[in-house]
Amino acid sequence: MDDEEFRRRGKEMIDYIADYLKHTSERRVTPEVEPGYLRPMLPKNAPEKSETWDNIMADVERAIMPGITHWQHPRFHAYFPAGNSYPSILGEMLSAGLGIVGFSWAASPACTELETIMLDWIGRMMALPVDFLPFDPVRDNRDSDDDDDDDEEESCSESDVEIKENNSHDSVMNGETHRASKRSRHIGGGVLLGSASECILVAMLAARTKKITSKRLVDPLMEDGQILARLVCYTSKLAHSCVEKAGLIAMVRVRQLAVDEHFSLRGKTLEECIRADKEKGLIPFLVSGTLGTTSCCSYDNLEEIGEICRRETLWFHVDGAYAGSALICEEYRYIMKGLHYADSFNTNPNKWLLINFDCSCFWVRDKFALINAMSVDPLYLQHKHAQKAVDYRHWGVALSRRFRSLKLWFTIRSYGIDGLRYYIREHCRLAKVFALLISADSRFEIIGDVTLGLVCFRLKGSNKLSQKLLLSLNDSGLIHMVPSMVNDIYIIRFAVCAKYANDDDMHIAFNTIQEHADDVLVEYRAQRS
Ligand code: PLP
Repeated sequence: MDDEEFRRRGKEMIDYIADYLKHTSERRVTPEVEPGYLRPMLPKNAPEKSETWDNIMADVERAIMPGITHWQHPRFHAYFPAGNSYPSILGEMLSAGLGIVGFSWAASPACTELETIMLDWIGRMMALPVDFLPFDPVRDNRDSDDDDDDDEEESCSESDVEIKENNSHDSVMNGETHRASKRSRHIGGGVLLGSASECILVAMLAARTKKITSKRLVDPLMEDGQILARLVCYTSKLAHSCVEKAGLIAMVRVRQLAVDEHFSLRGKTLEECIRADKEKGLIPFLVSGTLGTTSCCSYDNLEEIGEICRRETLWFHVDGAYAGSALICEEYRYIMKGLHYADSFNTNPNKWLLINFDCSCFWVRDKFALINAMSVDPLYLQHKHAQKAVDYRHWGVALSRRFRSLKLWFTIRSYGIDGLRYYIREHCRLAKVFALLISADSRFEIIGDVTLGLVCFRLKGSNKLSQKLLLSLNDSGLIHMVPSMVNDIYIIRFAVCAKYANDDDMHIAFNTIQEHADDVLVEYRAQRS
C-alpha cells in the first residue's frame, strides 16, 4: 500500500466505521457461531503473495462480522459499557500513525508529558484527594512549611520505617526524590495502564515490596521468602476476580470477605479477619476495596476500611473501574467518602468516559512506592534527563507503552467536562427509568440500589427461574445481559451501555424482557402442574 492508496483506503475505512456504528442496531447483538467457526473460512496458511485491499475488506463482512458481538449495539446491556466515541477513535488513529513507543521521557517527551497532564486533568475532574495529584503551585507552597516540620520528627513505628526506606531507595532511582523526601506530601502521581487488572496487580506488587522492606528493617534476619509466605491481602467476595488473579501472580493469600446486606465490605468484618490472621502469625499488607462492584455496583465502606488500614499500616487500594467516572459529577461524589485514606485508586475511562479500550487511570499517593517495586535501569534505557523527567517504564509491568493519552486529550477537549457529565447523567437517569419499569411489574424484584447506570433484577422465586429467563433472552439475540450472584441470589445485570441510549431503548429492552418472562413462567407453571 503506497501513500496514495493509504489516503484513499483510510477515508473508506472511516466511512466503513461510521456506517457500522450508525447501523449496528440492524444486526443481532450476539453472533450465532460456534467455537472454531472461523478456521474453515480462512486459508490454512498466510498468503505468499500480496492480496488486494478489496478482497481483504470483503472478508471482513464475510468472515469477521458474523463472529462479532456488537458491544455498541443499543440492546447490549452486558458487563459495563465499552467506551467509544469518534474523537477517541481518531485519537487512537493518530497514535497508531505516529507509531511511537513511549517507555521513557526521552523515547517521546510529548507522550510522557501529555499522559501526566491528562492524569492531572482527570484527577481534578473527579475531585480526587489532592495527595494523588502531582504538582500544584498553591498546594505546594502551602505545604512546604509543614514538611520542614515533618523532617524533624523521629519515630520507630513501622509506618515511619516504611517512609524512610522508600525515600532512601528513591534517591538512587530518580532525581525527583530529593525534593520529594523534603516534601513528603508531594509524591503522588498517576499513570495510564492497559486495564484495571493491571492497576490492581501493580498496586499489589508495590504494597508487597513496601511491606517486605519494612519487615526486614524491623527484623533483618527474616528472609524475603519467609515474609512473602505470610502476607495476606483482603478484599470482598464481590470484588472483581482480578484481585484474586493478582494474588495468584504475586503469590500472596487473598481473603474474600463477606459483605453486608447492602453488598458492602464493612470495617468490622475486616478487623476481625485481620485480628485472627495476626494471631496465626500472618502479615496483613493490603486491602483492595471496590467503588462500584462488577456484580451489582455496590460500594465498600471506604471510611471504615481506610481507618483500619491507617492503623494497621496496610496499603489501601480502591478499584473504581466503572463507577469512578461518575465522580466527574458533583452529585455522585458522596460515593467516594473515605477515598482520602487510599494509597492508590484506579478507574477505566475505557468503560464509562467514552474512551476506547485500552485506558485505565491509576493514581498513587506515593509514586516512589511503585518505582521501588518496578525499577530496573539498564544502560540502553537511560537518558540525560532522567533526573528531572518522569519515566513511566518504572510505573508498571510493561516497558513499551502506547500513546494512550492522545485519545483522552481529543475526547475531553471535544466533549468538554460538561458534555461528559451529560453523558454520565443520561445513563444514570435511564437506569432509573428502566428500574421503574421493572418495579411496576410485580413478577420482578430489584436487588441492590440503583445509584449509577446498572440495574440488577430477577424474577421473584427460585434462582432457576431467572437463569432460564436470561438464557432465553440471550439465545434470542435480541438483547444481551450477563448474570451475577450476590449473597447466593442469582441476579440479571442490566447495564446502560450505548453511547446515545434513550428512553425508547429502555422501553424496548423492558418489553423484550417481559415477553420472555411470560414464556418462561408459562413453561414453569406447566411443568409444575
Ligand atoms: N474492577 C471492576 C470493578 C470491574 O468492573 C472490572 C471489569 O469489569 C475490572 C476490575 C477488570 O477490568 P479490566 O478488564 O480493565 O481488567
